[in-house]
Order: sequence, then C-alpha cells, then structure tokens
Amino acid sequence: MEKISVAIRFRPSAAGDPPADRHWRVQDKSISLVGPGSGVSFAFDHVFDPSYTNAMVYDLLIKSIIQAAVDGFNGTAFAYGQTSSGKTFTMSGSEEEPGIIPLAVEDVFRTTKMTTDREFLIRVSYMEIYNEEINDLLTLGNQKLPIHESLERGFFVAGLREEIVNSAEQVFELLKHGEANRHFGETNMNARSSRSHTIFRMVIESSKRNPMNLGDVSNTDAIRVSVLNLVDLAGSERIAKTGAGGVRLKEGKHINKSLMILGNVINKLSESGRQRGHIPYRDSKLTRILQPALGGNSKTSIICTVAPEEVHIEETRGTLQFASRAKRITNCAQVNEILTDAALLKRQKLEIEELRRKLQGSHSEILEQVILKQRNDMHKSELERERLAMELEEERKARETLELCIKEQQRKIQNLSSLSISSYNTSISTQQKVNSTIMFDELSVSRSDVFRTPNFKAMADDFVVKRPSSFKTVDSNPILENFDNTADEDLWMQLNKGCITDLDTLQMTPNMKHQSLPSLEMSLEPSVDDKISSKRHHSLETDCGFDREQLEALREKCTIRERECSLLREEKASLVEALSLSKQDNEQFRAQKEELLKELNTEKQKMKELKEEIRQFSLAFHQREGLLTSIYTKSKAMMENLNVSKVSIPEVCDS
Ligand code: ADP
Ligand code: MG
Repeated sequence: MEKISVAIRFRPSAAGDPPADRHWRVQDKSISLVGPGSGVSFAFDHVFDPSYTNAMVYDLLIKSIIQAAVDGFNGTAFAYGQTSSGKTFTMSGSEEEPGIIPLAVEDVFRTTKMTTDREFLIRVSYMEIYNEEINDLLTLGNQKLPIHESLERGFFVAGLREEIVNSAEQVFELLKHGEANRHFGETNMNARSSRSHTIFRMVIESSKRNPMNLGDVSNTDAIRVSVLNLVDLAGSERIAKTGAGGVRLKEGKHINKSLMILGNVINKLSESGRQRGHIPYRDSKLTRILQPALGGNSKTSIICTVAPEEVHIEETRGTLQFASRAKRITNCAQVNEILTDAALLKRQKLEIEELRRKLQGSHSEILEQVILKQRNDMHKSELERERLAMELEEERKARETLELCIKEQQRKIQNLSSLSISSYNTSISTQQKVNSTIMFDELSVSRSDVFRTPNFKAMADDFVVKRPSSFKTVDSNPILENFDNTADEDLWMQLNKGCITDLDTLQMTPNMKHQSLPSLEMSLEPSVDDKISSKRHHSLETDCGFDREQLEALREKCTIRERECSLLREEKASLVEALSLSKQDNEQFRAQKEELLKELNTEKQKMKELKEEIRQFSLAFHQREGLLTSIYTKSKAMMENLNVSKVSIPEVCDS
C-alpha cells in the first residue's frame, strides 16, 4: 500500500500580473491559505515554484514511476488544473523544454536498452475523451470507441489502434500524427484542447532473456505487462466563469461531468475504508480508464497546476482542495506477471524471434523494420478480429432477442385470433338466448377456455373485457366460483391488477354490476369486440413485420461481419504465409551465403596453394640465380685467366 504522490506546480505569472501570493503562504512542501477559509494548510509531496523546469519535475516526481513501469508496475501521471495553468506545458512541454511525455518515452527506451537480461515489446496508443466520447488520435475517423471489460484484459477501449514501437523517435512521430488528427477540422484548437482529456498510453511487455535458448518461450515463462498512462486533463474551471454557451456549454458540461465524477471518485477514495461505500468509477469514461490509477494496482502521481494570478484565486483554492483529497488515496501496486496468452509478446515471440535470430547475422536495419511491420500487421489483424468478434456477439444477442420478441408477437396474434373467434361465438350464443335463463354450463366452455389460456395472464384487461358476457343474466358472483376451479395465483394477480375495485363492487352489490362497468358492457357487442381484436391483430402484425425487417437487416449485418471476419482470417493466413515465405527467403539467403562462404574458402585455399607455389618457385629461382651467378663469375674468372695466359704465351714464345 502506498499513497498517491501529489505535487503542486505554479506556472510563471503573466507579464505585468502580480502573483496573488498574499492569498497563500508556501512553506517547504505545504501551502496555507490566507484570507477567507484561512487556517487551512495542505501538505504535498512537492511544491514546484516557477523556477522548476519540466526536467526537474520529471526527475523528482515521475522518473521513479517510469522505472517501475519498465519493471512491470502499472503507472499513471496526470496533470489537473484550470485552463492555462500549465497542464499541457507540463505533460508535453515545448521544443526547448520537453515535458513529461517525451522525457518518459526517452527514459523508457533508455532503460529497456540497459536492461539486457530482459526482452521488451512496447506498444503505444493515444486517445482523446471529448464530450464523453473516446476518439482514437492515431487513426483519423476512429471515433466513439466503447469501453469493454474482459477477464484477461480488464477494462479496455475496443478498436483503439495500438502501434508496436522500438524507438523514441517512432513514438514522437506517432504523437505528432495524433496531435494533427486531434485538431483536424477544428476552428478553434485551443478551445477544443482545453475541453478534452488526452491519454497517451504505453503498454510494456517483457520476458526474461534466456541466453542459452533465445526466443524459446515455454508456457511457464511469466511475462510482465505494465500499462503507463500519461494524461493531460481538460481545464477544471467553472462554466459560469467562462461564460460558455451552445456547443461550448455542452462541451463544458461534459468536462464538468467527467471532472466532477473524477472529483467524486477521489472524494470517496479519500474517505476512510468503512465510510467509503460505492466508488462511482463507472459513471464516466475517464474514471473507468483511470480506475487502476485511483485506489488500484498502479503507481500514480498527480501534478496539480496552478495559475498564480489574483483572478484565478477561486480555481486555485479548488485545485488545492482536490489535490489534498487526492493525497489521501492509497494504491496497491504490484508487478503484473501473467502466464496466459494474454501477453502479445508471448503470442508473437516464437514466430518473430526465430525470424529475428536468423536475420541478426545479416546486420540489416531494413530487415528489423520488416520484422516490426510484420509484428504490427499481426497485432492489427488480431485487434480487428477481436473487435469483429465482439460486434458479432452483440449482434447475435440482438438477433436472439428479436427472435424471441417475434415469437412472442406471433403467439399473441394466434391468441388474439382464437379470442376473436371465441368472442364471436359467445356473442352469437348470447344473442340467441337473450330471453331465456342462461345456464352457466353453456358458457363455461368458452369462459374456461379463456381462463385456461396462459396468454390471458399477460393481458388482464382483455380478460376483464370478456368477463361481463356472463354478468347479464347471472346475479350471483360467477367469477369467484369459476376461479375456484380454473384460475391459478398468477391469474388472480393479473385480475387484481386489472380491476380490483370492480370485483369488490360485484361481490357486495350484484345489481351495480351494470353501472360499474358500462363501457365494458358496450364492448360485448361482437362488432366492437371484433374491431378491437382485429385492430390489435393488425397492429401486432405490423409490429411483427417491422421486427422481421429488423431481424433481416441484422441477419444481413451479421453476414457482412462474418464475411469481414473470414476476410480477416484470410488476411491473417496470407500474413502467416508471407511470414513463412520470408522465412524461406531467409533460408535461401542463408544457404546462398553458406555456399558463397564455401566458395570463398576454396578460393582462399587455392590462393594459399598458389602463394606457396610462387614462394617455392621464387626460392628455386633464387637458388638457380645464385648458381648461375656463381657459374658466370667462375667462367668470367676463367676467361680472364685464359686471356692472361693467351697474352703471356707469345711473350714466352717471342723470347
Ligand atoms: P493548460 O494546458 O493548463 O491549459 P498550458 O500548458 O497551455 O495550460 O499553459 C498556458 C500557457 O502558459 C502556455 O503558453 C505555456 O507555454 C505557459 N506555461 C505554462 N506553464 C509554464 C511554465 N512552467 N513555464 C513557462 N511557461 C509556462
Ligand atoms: Mg492544455
């Protein structure tokens, strides 16, 4: 159990506008209010005056959450405060002074690179809650997304695009893209941005790297999955102050509603355990998404931004009160380790890792990109399949309900038909015996039929309309007698619902029967009765036809979805095929490489042999050369000797 970290950040006051610091006093980490409501002092984890930069705020308040997220803990950081108090500046920052989101993204990739004993898969999404609707900021037109809940994934936004990323630059590109989508078609960007909440989310999956057997994930390997939410909330100012009207008022109401529910959730959570009661997370999309961050399994930091000018003093008080209540919330964060296939890393790892290992030798960045693209394609088709399956399920349920409805309508029509026939018969027999004493038995068949028909239990009024057909001549209380034999408890209930006072009247004064039910008597006329029945019959048939049309439309939709589903399946199959083809290519590539290497080795060997031959040849050459040189020298010396002796011989002869 640990408390949520809460910090207050004052933005610099607008030029020429002195800060209203006479209304409060900052002492180290606490702020006390001066003036009305004075004596109240709030203590926080940090109070950042305007001299603190985004980097300092990040280091002091957020860095630990980011490190923990890499280690498998869920993390959330959000900025709360009135419009223009510095929420966006804190979360996104500027070119010169990057905010918490870019600093966190860089930190995540830096830390994952340094954690060499684990392998990571990171995916990001970026959404906006505007007018209580969730819009995907990474895919234009992907709007009004629903929140679903599943055992494995908890709460999740169905249909939200998630992109697998492997560098901070890639994330920055996506964020830029998201911002562009956010402002698409907006005439007043600032107005919109201060009226919507944005949630940037990173899902970090990691598994232990096994140096002996890279890429081999057995079923017992636990995968850590953590979710990091970085949230820039809409402005918390009161509508009355902004003077908003029309569309702005509607937006304001939605912001106020979701911020109000956020406030409610925080108020409830700040109460001690026993008084707490129900926490209304489900009342708004924002609180459903932030549920783990508030009192759940997450490490959470809140930066409450404050505009220091005098005009904003009321909002500042509100922000400080919100912050001090948030400070009381305790969370219970733990490492999320899962063994099931819910981890994407696990599902993709075997296929991708094998490919990666093969490609690693070729040092190709392009091939890394190919892997990333394939991972993303696989993930996308998985998400799409999941969304379609969900839609299909919903449509199936709707179809079942409609079918039931149609069956019920048909049953009603049948009953009405039989009713009109029986009422027609009854009225004829009543007319025939109008002057004679009517024996109860004569009517008992039709009446007991009426009583026995289960559908009449659901139509007390119709039943009551039929009842007086016997009153004309019977002066005792026929209904009660009859009920003794045929009516069950349900029927009694229905009857009582329909005309409880009339029944009492009947029991006490039989003569008043006609007076108390004049309109019912009118309905005895077969023609009127028939008219009512046929009218009802007609309207039910129309309903039925309409339901049938709806069912047909749903069936068509279902078929389209099923077709889409099978197309996706085909797409997946073709992706898998492409993957296996690229595996084959890679295999060929490797075989070629090996062949080339072999050839190279042979060539090398040949070259070595040639060199050896050349060496031996040159050795022999040198030997020969030496020999020849010595022969030459010797023969030269001999020639010289010979010449000398040639010259001296005649001298000798001459003498
Ligand atoms: P919010 O998102 O709360 O509506 P912004 O972040 O847009 O408010 O801030 C309003 C203005 O104040 C912006 O021009 C922003 O650059 C400026 N600003 C806010 N906080 C700081 C700060 N700490 N240092 C410098 N400028 C700030
Ligand atoms: Mg903003």
